Amino acid sequence: MALIVHKYGGTSMGSVERIRNVARRVATWRAAGHRMVVVPSAMAGETNRLIALAREIQPQPDPRELDMICATGEQVSVGLLAMALKSIGVDAVSYSGWQVPVRTDSAYTKARIVTIDDARVRADLDAGRVVVIAGFQGVDELGNITTLGRGGSDTSAVAIAAALDAEECLIYTDVDGVYTTDPRIVPEARRLDRVTFEEMLEMASLGSKVLQIRAVEFAGKYRVKTRVLSSLTPPDIPVEIEAKSGTLITFEEDTEMEKAVISGIAFNRDESKITITRVPDRPGIASQILGAIADANIDVDMIIQNQSIEGTTDFSFTVQTNDLQRAIEVLNARVRESIGAREIIGDPKIAKVSVVGIGMRSHVGVASLMFRTLAEEGINIQMISTSEIKISVVIEDKYLELAVRALHKAFGLDRPAAGAG
Ligand code: ASP
Ligand code: MG
Repeated sequence: MALIVHKYGGTSMGSVERIRNVARRVATWRAAGHRMVVVPSAMAGETNRLIALAREIQPQPDPRELDMICATGEQVSVGLLAMALKSIGVDAVSYSGWQVPVRTDSAYTKARIVTIDDARVRADLDAGRVVVIAGFQGVDELGNITTLGRGGSDTSAVAIAAALDAEECLIYTDVDGVYTTDPRIVPEARRLDRVTFEEMLEMASLGSKVLQIRAVEFAGKYRVKTRVLSSLTPPDIPVEIEAKSGTLITFEEDTEMEKAVISGIAFNRDESKITITRVPDRPGIASQILGAIADANIDVDMIIQNQSIEGTTDFSFTVQTNDLQRAIEVLNARVRESIGAREIIGDPKIAKVSVVGIGMRSHVGVASLMFRTLAEEGINIQMISTSEIKISVVIEDKYLELAVRALHKAFGLDRPAAGAG
């Protein structure tokens, strides 16, 4: 009898009928002898509705109060789901984050989980109950309600699975797994049976928005077996079959099969490029620029600095488009004059495309194939960055779909790879 965590996203919880289906699915797993913890999101659209409501009162909502408001979405979900379970004869109990408690730091709207107390949950499980815990929320040291950032209930589920040492965390969503790329762009995209957590981390951070990135980090750090699968299948599908569906996030040493060199093509349209022109080429400049950005709590992704000509150079980096305006303001206020740069230019019309695969560690020629493919399509590369298992380029955003399609084909992802996929 294994301890299993199920997580259901907003679409899966989107109506009374769907919540009943979730209850039936949980009941099927319970009947197969498993100890069940369920972590739902708010009903589809609810968090957006709550944020919009808050903004009507305060255009820049106070973060503490915003978390207070947003946390109600998941609170409704857990109550409804526990009721749906009881109404089909499954003993269940619901908890909000603070009741467990799921302890976080105090960074409202993007809090991080610090610890999860498992005592109360274990006692319920021992008593034979299904425990339904609100995703996305926690409580700080002072008892303030916090939330983990949009999509945060994925992280809640994986963290709860880690804290309880669960056998597996199943993330039910409206897609049936992780694909080689977004099927809306490339209809030939295929579902991956397995993907390593490192690849998943690259794909999640690069915009394949199946799982919140922190959830993947948690899965990697605490070695939580995590599976992404569909909640749109019949709720009474046999557990043995369902347990093998979707995409399993694994660890490299578990992937004994011959994997394709590249697992997927990820992309992100939500970044913008900032270029600071005529930056003096001397020690400390990058640290001043990026230090000011970090102080403003803005994440930086790709960074490039060219070789200097006559002692100055251009320095470019990318940030989330949401942060573009603020980043430019910070740089103008704090950095431009003090380092003597000429100009700060923001460009939101960019997109990032990446090829991802652990096979890159043992194969050469990935970069050259990528660049050749883009060149053949006449796509100019503005920035390049690489890691051990990923190569990313920044291109003009209007070429994004073309680039993704061409790369998907060039790396052979359109056809099933031997032994994998
Ligand atoms: N309800 C929250 C959101 O929409 C958290 C989640 O769904 O994971 O972002
Ligand atoms: Mg989600």
